[in-house]
Amino acid sequence: MSTNPLQFLEIPRQDPPKDSAKIRVTHFKEIYGQYDAESAAEQAGRCIDCGIPFCEWKCPVHNYIPDWLRLIEEGNIEQAAEMSHKTNSLPEICGRICPQDRLCEGACTLNDGHGAVSIGNIEKYITDEALKKGWRPDLSQVKATDKRVAVVGAGPAGLAAADVLTRHGIQAVVYDRYPRIGGLLTFGIPPFKLDKSIVETRYDLLQGMGVEFRLGVEIGRDVQIEELVDEYDAVFLGLGAYDAVTGGFPGESLPGVHQALDYLIGNINQRLELPEDGYPFVDLEGKRVVVFGGGDTGMDCNRTAIRQNAERVVCTYRRGEDDLAGSKRDYANSVEEGVEFMFDRQPVEILGDSHVTGVRMLRTQNTTNEYGAKVLRNVEGSDEIIECDAVIIAFGFRASTPQWLQSAGVESLGNGRVKAPVTEQFTMQTTHPKIFAGGDMVLGADLVVTAVFQGREAAVGIARYLGVTAA
Ligand code: FAD
Ligand code: SF4
Repeated sequence: MSTNPLQFLEIPRQDPPKDSAKIRVTHFKEIYGQYDAESAAEQAGRCIDCGIPFCEWKCPVHNYIPDWLRLIEEGNIEQAAEMSHKTNSLPEICGRICPQDRLCEGACTLNDGHGAVSIGNIEKYITDEALKKGWRPDLSQVKATDKRVAVVGAGPAGLAAADVLTRHGIQAVVYDRYPRIGGLLTFGIPPFKLDKSIVETRYDLLQGMGVEFRLGVEIGRDVQIEELVDEYDAVFLGLGAYDAVTGGFPGESLPGVHQALDYLIGNINQRLELPEDGYPFVDLEGKRVVVFGGGDTGMDCNRTAIRQNAERVVCTYRRGEDDLAGSKRDYANSVEEGVEFMFDRQPVEILGDSHVTGVRMLRTQNTTNEYGAKVLRNVEGSDEIIECDAVIIAFGFRASTPQWLQSAGVESLGNGRVKAPVTEQFTMQTTHPKIFAGGDMVLGADLVVTAVFQGREAAVGIARYLGVTAA
């Protein structure tokens, strides 16, 4: 805590500088700058060490937030980085893209009128700057074992599992069907939210720690799960959730209608100069675009289309502004960048003969059904047409357990999520004793930080299962 406990009264919350909307729509680079050491210390010193750190509880990985804030105030960046990695395997990434308003910062005592401590920005600052100073994770106390674990999926869950397994002295070998690590961090989230070099730096760090990667290998196609079960002492699965939710209304297969993730990946592959690989680049320059959906994916599509110089981008959402599913920060950024929002609207038809020409929308209304439950209903007769040249469907994703996993004895719940309960003993173990799982495939489409938490927990479960204790 600051030597001046009332520092928060004298120093207001100050975020690092952000590019103006006019500038940032001209590029795909990250839009936020970085604190310098002095402003980071000043902002960290705003923490009042309130005694019951609600921020820690609201943070899904339970970061030791007040402790690393104090270290930053003291200028002790390497120790802060070490502490930050005790609970989070990807702190520089969570600091950038967690929806802090409903997690740590939403729970900060100062959020009540004084402006929450800028926890996310400081978390990002810690690892970025410590790495520049040459800091690397301290593994000097780790004792190597003869255990080897296959990690399938190099998304946040898999990377977090590999990190914690390594810290238990267990050799992690990570497989992914993609040519680069990161899962949705690389092939989903656009570079203006998370620069791809940040993920590459993490790749170097993990390799430096001894994690082995086998990229471009699809389990179930190139290598069978039974081979992994035979070759390794255990297997962790972090396959994600990729079943796109569709609207089920006429016109969804018309040319000019795009699934959100296909559109985003096509754009990223083009920017990274990677082969199309089934995700053709869709250029929306000069087009009138309608995006269906108010979650993080919808916002990313809005802002990608704006950067491609779309003539107009309208985002429709079936509920109100206060009920938006995505982060408030990304909604605000979308508005600043020129996206138009239409709330309380439900698409019922995509119009066009050989190509999309418009969408038919109905207004929605909250009502109560015969059992007294609140339901959202379409208002008949409230039809309106939005003319457009392209539609992007961003209704979200569901998990689905691949057939090859089910055949191997890994059971799923009715909704496609793999059964991997949190237990005292071997947490995140599936119905196959040697196979553990975590992230979106267990939770359903969620957040980076929750996937990180589950990957870490599963690694602890695996270590226990293998009789390995942490150093
Ligand atoms: P994923 O990131 O999906 O990784 C799964 C990995 O498994 C992939 O690399 C995949 O190639 C690999 N894989 C799958 N099957 C196989 C196989 N058979 N063999 C080999 N490899 C395989 N969350 C936030 O917190 N903040 C945000 O701002 C945010 N924005 C988002 C924007 C978009 C467009 C999307 C789609 C999601 C966003 N999310 C955001 C959610 C977040 O990205 C996910 O919750 C998180 O990435 C889940 O991590 P995961 O490791 O479970 O899965
Ligand atoms: Fe906040 Fe996310 Fe960092 Fe936790 S991981 S402190 S929720 S930004």
